[in-house]
Amino acid sequence: MCHDQNRFHPILSAQISPPESCPVATGPALSGNDHPPPTARLLCPKRERPMKIVKLESFTTPAVSFVRVTSDTGAEGWGQMSTYNADITAQVFHRQVAPHALGTDALDFEDTIRRIYEKEHKFPGSYLRRAQTGLDTALWDLRGKLEGKPVATLLGGSPGKVRAYASSMKRDITPADEARRFQHLRDTFGFTAFKWRVGAECGRDNDEWPGRTEEVIPVVSKALGDGIDKLVDGNSCYSPARAIEVGRMLEDNGIGHFEEPCPYWHPDQTAEVRAALALDVAGGEQDCEFSSWELMFDRRAVDIAQPDIMYMGGMHRTLEVCRMAAAHGLPVTPHAANLGLVTICTMHLLRAIPNAGKYLEFSIEGPDYYPWQEGLFLGQPYAITDGHATVTDAPGWGVEINPGWLDKAQYQVSAMA
Ligand SMILES: [Mg+2]
Repeated sequence: MCHDQNRFHPILSAQISPPESCPVATGPALSGNDHPPPTARLLCPKRERPMKIVKLESFTTPAVSFVRVTSDTGAEGWGQMSTYNADITAQVFHRQVAPHALGTDALDFEDTIRRIYEKEHKFPGSYLRRAQTGLDTALWDLRGKLEGKPVATLLGGSPGKVRAYASSMKRDITPADEARRFQHLRDTFGFTAFKWRVGAECGRDNDEWPGRTEEVIPVVSKALGDGIDKLVDGNSCYSPARAIEVGRMLEDNGIGHFEEPCPYWHPDQTAEVRAALALDVAGGEQDCEFSSWELMFDRRAVDIAQPDIMYMGGMHRTLEVCRMAAAHGLPVTPHAANLGLVTICTMHLLRAIPNAGKYLEFSIEGPDYYPWQEGLFLGQPYAITDGHATVTDAPGWGVEINPGWLDKAQYQVSAMA
């Protein structure tokens, strides 16, 4: 059940030194113990005067909203708020995030992110975090472009390959069809790890249809064969008793990762499942408050932590969860369930943190499932070769948002007078 360092991704587990030009902050980890933080807190380079944020623009559809930040020197960066109901999130951004950010330092912004939380302390929860992510990710991009470095390097890591697991989002797919498309992806793109779905989403122990779970576990596992890492996701479906029953079935079929077996808002239930099973229990994708993470870690609910950078409120807050996980000896395999900016950000994170999990979540769904993903970026930032995605040495996030997509999006701006 317990992870040791040897199980971390071999490429990503090396101790990483910060660039010489950047001093390292020495503040205590939020989790309040004496374990050394896994990721150096990098301060921005010394400057004669702060570079102020003067404009924050959003480009929005109901599914996704991109953010452009502009400084008083004209420097720009691009980020993204979390997906879904992004039009509502964009309203939160301009009402409750932008007013606290305008006029603050565009390069040294970790405390700005904290101050937004404090200023808006009567609004805990998801929407403010989703909106904050637009600011955080745009500012990381701006700094990367100014310094000519990818965000992974700013975080103390480096560009390079990241092993990906092919992640199915579908439950309305037969076991035979799921097995066929996995085999195709394995043979075409070289994926060496796959995740599929069991039970029904928040299903109260029900299945998508009777008998699907008992069928899809062995059918897909056997079709993939040996030498492949196999993961499943319960999406908060099960009571502890049923989750343990399903978990034994998973273990008998060579599956090593059981994600979100029980309703995520009951960490004690997840902890009960983890204690009963030998495979890895994973979770945390919905959790955006540090108090939830502390509870989850204290109860030993999971073997693998899965923060979603976009749900968490951006990179700074996600790094804090990574430090907390490291303090508990746990790896981080973030949630990244679509090919908006979240998976790019996750690639950079995994190239930088010492407790990176074994792989990147990589959605395999196309336009039938995620029509809104089409045409977001120029080029192919999500090319997969031999089962790996690649963080290039391009500065910032290393992606260019499609101007044609931006032209069609709803535009809003907050600016200094
Ligand atoms: Mg999941």
